[in-house]
Amino acid sequence: MLQKKFEHVVLKHYPDALDTRETSIKYLGLLQNGHDIDVSNMLMATSLCSDDINIPSTSFFSVIWGPFFLGGLGGLPYTGLTGLTAFAHHVPDNGTALIFYGPHIGVTLENEVGKMYRPRQEKAGACCGALMLALERFKEDAYVPEIKPEDYQQSYLESLLYPKKEEILNDASPEIKITECTFELIDTMLHDHLKQVKNEFKIDKIVLLGGVVINTDFGIDDYFSVRNFEVIRTRYL
Ligand SMILES: [Zn+2]
Repeated sequence: MLQKKFEHVVLKHYPDALDTRETSIKYLGLLQNGHDIDVSNMLMATSLCSDDINIPSTSFFSVIWGPFFLGGLGGLPYTGLTGLTAFAHHVPDNGTALIFYGPHIGVTLENEVGKMYRPRQEKAGACCGALMLALERFKEDAYVPEIKPEDYQQSYLESLLYPKKEEILNDASPEIKITECTFELIDTMLHDHLKQVKNEFKIDKIVLLGGVVINTDFGIDDYFSVRNFEVIRTRYL
């Protein structure tokens, strides 16, 4: 019943979203039947935000080995070329690599976006915390992000989003817009990193599944709105 109520809210903002179970059935099925990929011989990497609330979003891929964590705050692939190279070296022989990636955004039954009720907390809090913090800071006219080694991930994330500040703030839903902009960043960075370390992958195929994770209440399935599903032949990278 609660799941249905959440679905109503989620679909209002993300009409194509599927719950995590439907997502895994659809895409694992496509890999096995449409692309002749043995999903039991796959290693998954994720480029998702560090937030603990994202752990259940990846467990639906439980038949796949992994994950290797490429991501940090906001979901950017902070482990960079070294992390991606290590992941490439860990894929089973004659296996396939899967990279599941994207930003996340919370929703509440009160139809708020960018917020969620976390386990055992009475009040709704920011979700994604990193993106909503960036958004709050962008609302201050004088704020200009500068990269700080002691707060590297957040400051780097803000510096990459900063050129989109006006576009984000002028959108009807800045919370959704900053999340979309972050998807574009992660997607571009991952494709760029893959090109740079392509020779490290000794396998035939790399699968990319990217989109927006939509977090609901604890215990209720999360949702996923797919932005990119791609089976890359490594020799054509
Ligand atoms: Zn987050």
